[in-house]
Amino acid sequence: MSDDLLARHKAVLPSWMPTYYGDDALEIVSGSGRRVTGGDGRTYLDFFGGVLTTMIGYDIPEINEAVQRQLATGVVHTSTLYLIKQQVELAEKIARVSGIPDARVFFTNSGTEANETALLMATNLRRSNQILAIKNSYHGRTFATMAITGHRSWSSSALTPLNVSWLASGDRLRGRMAGLDDAAVLDAAVDDLREVLATVTAGDVAALIAEPVQGVGGFVAGPDGLLGAYHKVLSETGILLIADEVQTGWGRTGEHFWGYQAHGVTPDLITFAKGIGNGFALGGVVGRAEVMNAVPAISFSTFGGNPVSAAAGNAVLDYVLDRDLQGNAARVGAILLDGLRGLDLPIVGEVRGKGLMIGVEIVHPGTTEPDPAATVRVFDECRAGGLLVGKGGLYGNVLRMGPALTLTEAEAREGLGILVDALSRVDTDSR
Ligand code: PLP
Repeated sequence: MSDDLLARHKAVLPSWMPTYYGDDALEIVSGSGRRVTGGDGRTYLDFFGGVLTTMIGYDIPEINEAVQRQLATGVVHTSTLYLIKQQVELAEKIARVSGIPDARVFFTNSGTEANETALLMATNLRRSNQILAIKNSYHGRTFATMAITGHRSWSSSALTPLNVSWLASGDRLRGRMAGLDDAAVLDAAVDDLREVLATVTAGDVAALIAEPVQGVGGFVAGPDGLLGAYHKVLSETGILLIADEVQTGWGRTGEHFWGYQAHGVTPDLITFAKGIGNGFALGGVVGRAEVMNAVPAISFSTFGGNPVSAAAGNAVLDYVLDRDLQGNAARVGAILLDGLRGLDLPIVGEVRGKGLMIGVEIVHPGTTEPDPAATVRVFDECRAGGLLVGKGGLYGNVLRMGPALTLTEAEAREGLGILVDALSRVDTDSR
């Protein structure tokens, strides 16, 4: 059955759309809470939650009811040519939690479109197509967003309307910042920014776009304060700061509601998507009115912020705020981080993360050399043990954990046990 579906998938979807687990690809047929059941008849604890999209969990009554109430009106879509109460309500809430004074909100269907829109606004306001982006970033899969994606597997040499200059990533394991402490990274990053501005831009840069924690790049974070340090330089010439919070928003990082809040700066624009719909297609941009209003006349998004997605978004945001899921992410994330950091396994090159966004780098024992083959073995062992995790990073050697923010302590310990067993087995085999 599953084999048949995989063959049909391969026959009709593009070849660059791989699925996890190779020939043993998994179809998820049902879900409840933090668990899913596969077409293989097995139930798994899900530590990846879609791709950080199932932020509350599966089959959540409050979200189901909100969506069903909207469906019961008979109105799934009307377009933004008409007033949409659900959309206005959600925009009010997002503006309130954004931390941006006099904020405006524009809804899209995805993170890619959100970033595309943010770039459009910034370049219009600044009358410049020059953008600063960070190496190892991921921002989407359209012309403009691929141009600012600093990651070999997800970039394209296709023509782009943007003129992009690159800053070093905050990766401390390898690359320009390897081995540096926080203060040294901050200094090096500011030097890098000043050098790039002086040498490879014409000075009139529109914006810097950055993920507070790089998601697809392998959950890599620079030190707290990094975006603030950049901003001091950027503000000298009015360069805008765009925080791509597609993965890091809504309390995911535990200590803060937005990833940017660890950096002592408020961005001009924040882009969001993924978790806010708990699986319903919903993304957008929230930002300062001056920037948001800068685009003279763009067409609206036909489906962006449609009544059903917005109903889901309202229920999700209420759920996150009413139940302090940010606090839960901090508490439960600490169990995972402490458990993983306590391991003494030579294949574990680094354990890093914040809240419920945790990455484990798999390396050749005792080195920093990525070991993607061992990563696949750990990944497969996790599935065999009943745990789904994510996989990624520039070298395909990072296990990524981004479970629903409702993950319980018991579930965290259960998943940790499976993960530690898998890591230990592969570690023993690698010696
Ligand atoms: N920005 C970040 C940080 C992401 O992680 C992603 C997707 O993984 C995107 C943007 C693109 O979002 P979408 O896939 O919804 O277009």
